[in-house]
Amino acid sequence: MKKIFLFIILSFNLLYASAQDNTAVYNKYFPLPDKNIPFPILTKESKSYYTGYNDVIKYIHSLAEKNAEIITIGSIGSSQKGRDVPSVTFNKKSKIADADKIRMALIGCMHGNEPISTDGMLYVMHELMENPSYADLLDNIILCIYPIVNPDGHEADTRATNNGTDLNRDLAILEAPESFNLKNAINSFDPHIVIDFHEYAPDRKNFREIDKCLTSSYDALFLHTGNLNVDPAIRKVIENDFVNPTKKILEENHRKIDEYSVASEKNNEVVLTIGGTASRSSATNYALQNRISLLMEIRGLSEKGNVCKRRIETDFLAAISYIKIAGQKAADLKAVIADANKRAIRADRDIVVTSKSKAEIYPFTFVDKCANAYKTVDFNASNNNVQTPEITRSRPEAYLILSVDEKVKRVLVASGIEFSEIKNQTILSLEAYQLNAGSYQLVNQETTIGKGAIVINMHQKMGNTIADLLEPEGNNSLIGNDLLKLLNGSDHNLYRITKNQMIQLQNKN
Ligand SMILES: [Zn+2]
Repeated sequence: MKKIFLFIILSFNLLYASAQDNTAVYNKYFPLPDKNIPFPILTKESKSYYTGYNDVIKYIHSLAEKNAEIITIGSIGSSQKGRDVPSVTFNKKSKIADADKIRMALIGCMHGNEPISTDGMLYVMHELMENPSYADLLDNIILCIYPIVNPDGHEADTRATNNGTDLNRDLAILEAPESFNLKNAINSFDPHIVIDFHEYAPDRKNFREIDKCLTSSYDALFLHTGNLNVDPAIRKVIENDFVNPTKKILEENHRKIDEYSVASEKNNEVVLTIGGTASRSSATNYALQNRISLLMEIRGLSEKGNVCKRRIETDFLAAISYIKIAGQKAADLKAVIADANKRAIRADRDIVVTSKSKAEIYPFTFVDKCANAYKTVDFNASNNNVQTPEITRSRPEAYLILSVDEKVKRVLVASGIEFSEIKNQTILSLEAYQLNAGSYQLVNQETTIGKGAIVINMHQKMGNTIADLLEPEGNNSLIGNDLLKLLNGSDHNLYRITKNQMIQLQNKN
């Protein structure tokens, strides 16, 4: 009995001490904004520290009713549990025709347990409509906000969807209905710019293992693609015109910012991976489609209900910065994208099949909660923002798949890829991929191309996405994901077609 009592007193003291320390840390490093932020909406229905799904829906409808001439609420489909996934489109009547406006999409809550990203989007909508200083911001922009793309995860406080799919690892092969619907919505809206808002956990297990006092010091991390198949001009615009000025704006607003990084353990050592190249995730996926694309990680997740208003304001500051840039640079940005589309259609750039990230020492700044002071630790890191090509391959005139099921066709269609079907049987010698001692070599093979085979011409806007989905080495490719087989029985199934072979095929079909 005595022991239990002592234990209770000790744990109470520990809790009290840590709460005290954290208050000092929050006051010093993460103070709340000194203005009225009417989010999250905490009503009887909210089960937690964030705005619940029903209140999100109620709020966007009330805002749309008040601003009927600007806002249209749409639906991109239903979640697995039948919840509607809304889109909120802002299109202000102005002297500029809709077709001449720049289109921009903001995404919130792909990961259900990152709900403050949704509240951030609500605050963006609120300010755009209620704050007169933003009245002109939307003159030449059509803005579409998807505030809650994973409502089931949001309501269950889980990262994944109801069937366990991580939506931001599903954008290449689109297995969950939520990612399929979102991809369709994005392709039909056809935004020039896509910004995807997330939360990251500052208190990672890896960091606690180094020192239990450490929490990340950063309010926001910027993830922009390092994938070398993304058009170089698109990558440059993302970094120079969007990331760098927005970093500056956040710093001016007393936010500490950094490149996106994630910690993991390698040979008993905590290492960092900076940036990303994987097309299964939004930042790279939309950039491969020649869209200006970024993922924002706002401090949160393990923070749960702590300093929500500061985090909501960080979402807002970043989003408003991007909206301003889009409006001011609309003509230039559209020209860069139009050029990238032309280059994709020309299809003369080699495909980078595999590339290597740069190994470097990377300083990461923590707040030492025990000392209430910054502490910078140098990590071994691999930097995905600096890639060196390893295997490259020329871009074929087209790819040909002999046997293709509905699942693959569905991914191609939803990814905005055009293809045609073979009507008349043809025999040609084509290039196929042969696995030799762990690497693929191109071999020529005489092939009977039957009815139903599909030809994917590379002279199209989505050329970079096609290369990413079809070159077999890619981790996110249809082959790497086991959706497409390289062999059809003992025959090859995926082929590369030259210009001459394409002419022969077209003559017979
Ligand atoms: Zn996330």
